[in-house]
Amino acid sequence: MATHTPVKQINQIKRNDLKFVKQIGEGGFSSVYQMTWIHPSLGPIEIAAKKLIKRDVKELDIMSGLDHPNIVKLIGVVDELMDFMLILELCNRGSLRSYLQGLNGGRLSDQQFYDWAEQAARPLEYLKQKHLVHKDVKSPNYMVTTDNNLKLGDFGIAKFIDQTVGNATETASCRWMAPELFVKGILSPKYDIFAYAVVIWEMRTGKYPFEGLEPQVIAWRVCQKKERLPIPEDCPRPIKDLMKQCWKTDWKKRPSIEEIISVIKAAAKETRQKQITGPWKLERKFELQFVPGKRSRAYGIAVNPSNRDVAVAHWWSSQVYTNNGEYKHSMDTLQGLEPGMEGETSRPFQVTVNPQGTTYIITDSSNHVKCYDSQAHFTGQWVSSCPHASSGSPWLRGLAMDHEEHLLVGDCNSKHINRHRQDGSYLSSIKVGIEPTCIAVTSQGAIVVTEIFKPPQIVSSTGQVMCTLKHPVGESQWNPYGVYCHEDIILIANHTTRNILCYSESGKYLGDIPVSGFHSPKLPTGVAMTADGKKLLVCTLRSVHVYSL
Ligand code: ADP
Repeated sequence: MATHTPVKQINQIKRNDLKFVKQIGEGGFSSVYQMTWIHPSLGPIEIAAKKLIKRDVKELDIMSGLDHPNIVKLIGVVDELMDFMLILELCNRGSLRSYLQGLNGGRLSDQQFYDWAEQAARPLEYLKQKHLVHKDVKSPNYMVTTDNNLKLGDFGIAKFIDQTVGNATETASCRWMAPELFVKGILSPKYDIFAYAVVIWEMRTGKYPFEGLEPQVIAWRVCQKKERLPIPEDCPRPIKDLMKQCWKTDWKKRPSIEEIISVIKAAAKETRQKQITGPWKLERKFELQFVPGKRSRAYGIAVNPSNRDVAVAHWWSSQVYTNNGEYKHSMDTLQGLEPGMEGETSRPFQVTVNPQGTTYIITDSSNHVKCYDSQAHFTGQWVSSCPHASSGSPWLRGLAMDHEEHLLVGDCNSKHINRHRQDGSYLSSIKVGIEPTCIAVTSQGAIVVTEIFKPPQIVSSTGQVMCTLKHPVGESQWNPYGVYCHEDIILIANHTTRNILCYSESGKYLGDIPVSGFHSPKLPTGVAMTADGKKLLVCTLRSVHVYSL
């Protein structure tokens, strides 16, 4: 038996504290305005005010019990003689419908489609746990936020499931409506599922459902003729099948929201894996600055997630460039060296950046891990060594950050990977079978390890070998250097074949990226991607190549 979530203390807001900015929407029973709320302590905050024609607390009641990242947040209420307004977080980019209209017949990129298909489903999963049916799932009721996320709004006719099976008095929008509601006025628990599939159809096609048709015609087609929206030929098979399942007349045969989410995630993964091999277009290439008279030796590359700057670990002179290849800073690698030590004893090898983009970290042949701020100023260094390793000075090479933002440092002498906090304090070590020359952490937390001339390995966080990667041509082709994990994909820069090999996290070979222009000595040494996966950066001994899909 469903229970009502008790109404939370609702923030009472005074109408006088709101300043009108503009009207942003019009519903059947409401008008929506952008307003500035002069908060007594926080100052001005932009909000959306949904002014209801009459004082009806149903929507307020339901929304006050909801808290989900993909549901428009209720901030408070204005409940005064002349005004009854729900004060909502403002979703600046309007509704999904207007967003799709703005594409002018175009459609979402595959990545955005899958992201939004999942984001549109998540609130329905949450509502199911709360025994709620939204009842009015449609593209005009999903809002787009400034940071490009979807949020479900308009809970004006949402209902608890125990109240819903039976008569549905309010009519939802016919373009998204399941046949049971047309025919018998019955609201099934899978009602929102039917409408959800219409929303993903809109996202896939960019079109308006049953464009130009009158409600009676839609009802007749959907119910009598059992007609459904035409699914485009190029729609990926799992999504096509999903829509068909969601549009079954018998609601009991429609998939659950949990099944839908898992189909979407699997299809997204499959598409991503297919796409990763390109074709990538060379967007730009820039030569690295290097010390005159010395050979250029760049081995590691990392992209700063906050400003997309590109850091290159380069013997004698590690550097930071803008995303366009303009030189910005050099990291003074001589800093921290003992007096009398030569620059040559400090050869930076790998570089990583913390997620905030404030610290560059470098492994260096002086056996130190060196840290620099975002302006490339030296901020300190620490030694990485494993207390259990047999004696001998460490030879630090591989470097990666794990999901807890701890640093993994590969010591090729003792074949240990040491885990440290960012201040250098030691946490633990694992022993691996090969020299951890370059390392990367997969989305599942496993570690990919490469050693030159050996097949790369995927090891668990305790060091157990989970898989050895197979080269498509033959084992002798392996001479791997840099490795990078993007979502569930592993990219490896391989010298012998002069390309980037792509694998799934489970070690399945997905294909390779035949990056152009690699002739000796321009061998691929390092590989990285921007966080959105839209740019691929490959570093060679003396240049950086930036590719886009
Ligand atoms: P109704 O319940 O009367 O249909 P809605 O809640 O659907 O009203 O809002 C109508 C329109 O107002 C939406 O389609 C959207 O364009 C706009 N809107 C509603 N809430 C917001 C919000 N939080 N941020 C931005 N725009 C909104």
